[in-house]
Amino acid sequence: MKPGSFVPFLLAGLLFFTSCSRKESMESRLIQLISRYAPTAITADTSMLSAGNRAALHELIAAAQIMDSLYLRQVWSGNIRTLETLTADKSPEGQPMLRYFQINMGPWSKLDHDSAFVPGVPPRPLGANYYPEDMTKDEFNAWVASLPQTDQEKAKGFFTVIQRRSDRSLTMVSYSAEYRDLLSVAAGHLQNAAGLTDNATLRDFLLKRAAAFGTDDYYESDIAWMDLDSPIDVTIGPYETYMDGLFNYKAAFEAFIGIRDSAETAKLATFASHLQEIENSLPIDPKYRNPHLGAMAPIRVIDEFAEGGEAKSGVQTAAFNLPNDDRIVRERGSKRVMLKNVQEAKFSQILKPIAGIAVDSNQRQLVSFEPFFTHILAHELMHGLGPHNITVKGTPSTVRLELKELYSAWEEAKADISGLFALQYLIDAGVVDKGMEQQMYVTYLAGVFRSVRFGITEAHGKGMALQFNYLLDHGAISYNPAAGTFAVDFTLIKPVCRELTGIIMTVEAEGDYNAAKELLGRYAVIRPSMQQTLDKLTGIPVDIAPEFPAEQ
Ligand code: ZN
Repeated sequence: MKPGSFVPFLLAGLLFFTSCSRKESMESRLIQLISRYAPTAITADTSMLSAGNRAALHELIAAAQIMDSLYLRQVWSGNIRTLETLTADKSPEGQPMLRYFQINMGPWSKLDHDSAFVPGVPPRPLGANYYPEDMTKDEFNAWVASLPQTDQEKAKGFFTVIQRRSDRSLTMVSYSAEYRDLLSVAAGHLQNAAGLTDNATLRDFLLKRAAAFGTDDYYESDIAWMDLDSPIDVTIGPYETYMDGLFNYKAAFEAFIGIRDSAETAKLATFASHLQEIENSLPIDPKYRNPHLGAMAPIRVIDEFAEGGEAKSGVQTAAFNLPNDDRIVRERGSKRVMLKNVQEAKFSQILKPIAGIAVDSNQRQLVSFEPFFTHILAHELMHGLGPHNITVKGTPSTVRLELKELYSAWEEAKADISGLFALQYLIDAGVVDKGMEQQMYVTYLAGVFRSVRFGITEAHGKGMALQFNYLLDHGAISYNPAAGTFAVDFTLIKPVCRELTGIIMTVEAEGDYNAAKELLGRYAVIRPSMQQTLDKLTGIPVDIAPEFPAEQ
């Protein structure tokens, strides 16, 4: 699953070609739509790879490109034909329309409620190309209920498409049959790469994944993916179900090919070795601390080298948790993969320009990538610390159950603010360089504006607004009304972050829904000063359009 899959809706009123009377204006509108994605080269250092791994990389890029073709087919039955028409179109608007199609991997604009930008295409089918376009949910459910138990599971499973027979009744076709032509080519590339790499865990994953393409049984290869310990990191296959707007059952093909970042991997190991110490120092009643933290879910930091399929479309993934198979999540947990160079590209194209507007001019130079990424790592680790299994009125419960619909925003706020607390702890302990201290707080302040830029309906944005207004009201952040900018108070920020960490975690420990509701109501809002600053961010890109020199 991907964090922040929430997509902002931005350009109401800008899109529609029906209102365009002239061809030039269609062209210029397309250029405006495209300009929200800043073109950015994404590169990774492959100089440390063995000759065998470097040769394997070429095969993996070829396999990732097959995921493009598979995904294009999954989006819509008319998708390939539309792409061919646009590719042949030599008119002035043909070029930008093709470019925008490539960004979205289809004729609908993901940043604009999936509205069509290619004239004449229908609204996006809710069930994509996974089901017949005229099938209703009721028809599907009635058909599934008529099937034997094992077939019911397959019909609702990740790896089947639903089609109509000539008599209009429904039937299912497995991915391995429906996409055999392309999957057999992809499997060939994975097998070739397996023959070239000198890493045993990578070879094991690639061979098992190639086999899964032919059998639709992904279990063994998902387990092998969990155990992958290799300088080349590969995620390839059918994964996320967001595009199935009818049921969220069917998985879209994608690929992330990356190079493991050894410095960040070492940093994570260092942090991991201090987690119990940090838990023991949390600013909460000692009885709420966990004396024996369990094993942490694995985290991998990679630099992306190539991507394919759904990963290419729309807003770029900067981190993901997989697999989605519940059996594996129950048995082994899930693994988190963070794409450091993608985060870096977003940092320089989006966060830096935001800081140039929202942060006081004498603190802007402190905004930098290293503390930005380090805080993201701390955020992920801190999700594992603090209260989870709690006791409410003598009965065992969980924070998630007690905080109900408030849980996601609350837990995200906890991870952010306690991430600052934890890094401050490590700075004070001499584990993290003291030079990062001021940078970390100011970079965090700029990050608030990035998170709340498109509203606070989503958990991360809401959690950020809660923290921001608390820090502002307690003097840790100050507002300069003349310049419309914000600054960190380096004396107050430490004790106030500590205090807020204590408040948020105590609410979790006590499962105090009413307190969470009251605090969110008071602080998780956008006040006029913040709104004025947000209004000035409209020209800053929404995301990046990655360019992979490696693929050319
Ligand atoms: Zn989080």
